[in-house]
Amino acid sequence: MKTFYIETFGCQMNAHDSEKVVGTLLEKGYSQVERAEEAELVLYNTCSIRDKAEQKVFHRLQQFKRDAGAGKVFGVLGCVAQQEGERIFEKAPHVSLVAGSASYTRLPELLVQLEAGNRRVTGLDLNTDLAFDTPHTRRDNPHRAYITIIEGCDKSCAYCVVPFTRGPERSRTSESVLREASELARMGYTEVQLLGQNVNSYRDPSPSGWDFAQLLAGVGDIEGMRRVRFTTSHPRDFVKGIIDAIDSSPSLCNHVHLPVQSGSTKILTAMDRQYTRDEYMRRIEWMKNARREIAITTDIIVGFPGETDQDFEQTLDLLDQVEFESMYVFKYSKRPNTAALQYDDHIPEEEKTRRLLIVQEKQRAIQIRRNAEYVGRVEEVHVEGYNKATSQWIGRTTQHKTLNFIDADVREPQEGRTLVGKYLDVLVTRASPNSLAGESIATRPVLQ
Ligand code: SAM
Ligand code: SF4
Repeated sequence: MKTFYIETFGCQMNAHDSEKVVGTLLEKGYSQVERAEEAELVLYNTCSIRDKAEQKVFHRLQQFKRDAGAGKVFGVLGCVAQQEGERIFEKAPHVSLVAGSASYTRLPELLVQLEAGNRRVTGLDLNTDLAFDTPHTRRDNPHRAYITIIEGCDKSCAYCVVPFTRGPERSRTSESVLREASELARMGYTEVQLLGQNVNSYRDPSPSGWDFAQLLAGVGDIEGMRRVRFTTSHPRDFVKGIIDAIDSSPSLCNHVHLPVQSGSTKILTAMDRQYTRDEYMRRIEWMKNARREIAITTDIIVGFPGETDQDFEQTLDLLDQVEFESMYVFKYSKRPNTAALQYDDHIPEEEKTRRLLIVQEKQRAIQIRRNAEYVGRVEEVHVEGYNKATSQWIGRTTQHKTLNFIDADVREPQEGRTLVGKYLDVLVTRASPNSLAGESIATRPVLQ
């Protein structure tokens, strides 16, 4: 069993976990293939944040059931693995490996058991002190890299499975984070994204005891690091020091993703988010008063149990007040083990859909207005790719906006000539709700 295929569902934490799993497997002598059909070992790194995500995984497993007889070995990793545990063997008997993210440090040992022909191998322990720190990460992107700074979550938001699937919080030492970031800078990476379910509660376990703002400033100071991002911030633990760090270090991107979930203090309390609407708005004020112009994005859940029309109106009102640059909006989804399952007043599906559409429409109007303000401005982009269909380069601004552009000098990727990975100034000439478009100004005499 020496070839493997891996498919990843869900968030950036999962994407990065898969990079570490791939690195570990390559180190063990496996080779990666592009199609499940060609692999001896088929892995799914799963997401269970909402019911739909979980169903997708079981659907995928069913698709390949017939191949099980052909000697393939199937493994389920990640949040569904942790949540369902050995029940996965009943639901999908052709699965041989079930392991949650807190057990990936044991992956080499689990692989040995699989190679020995063991048909039921599990890694489901959540009481590990270790973060999944591996020297063998195989990164997918040569210019932008993820760095995990904290694993797990100690909050208990009433709707969320993460504390059950990823276990308690474990911070890495600042020394190991800085070492990894410096190594990445030496390898030519210019952009990193610090990852955690709640990066703001980062606390260096070594005697220096750094908090998140100190870590952020430390990574921002590394030579060669041009862009440092971080996600996700929890409003309760978001302190002013983070904005001060952004203000004083140009390499820290001026973008903060600060999920609010609801504009109603009553619903925030029912969600056990541990902040009020006013406390959230105070953090927004800090950002709006910062020296740099900070782009703020968020997550919203509509149709949480007990959400009345008035509560929902308060969410809409908060959107008008803050004018987020972009957002993810979700219908509340019942998750196993969570407190909200026991709540009364669950909202009918059609009503959740109605509220979702209203939020999406309002936010679309806000984004049309906000993005139009960028027209005429020059923004620096980090070039991420090229879109053949539109003949445009794809760039990303410091605010994390997509800015598609043309370049008069390098019109398309050519042998040995590409803009990918470069930083360019682009004049924004057009705006749409979800992206900007423009022209690189390097060759525009009119702007010199
Ligand atoms: N740790 C982050 C936080 O505190 O916001 C992100 C957690 S989760 C991976 C990303 C988003 O999924 C959450 O911000 C929330 O909006 C949404 N989410 C989580 N559980 C949900 C559920 N049961 N139903 C609907 N949306 C959910
Ligand atoms: Fe889930 Fe809340 Fe933890 Fe975020 S902070 S991962 S929403 S429990």
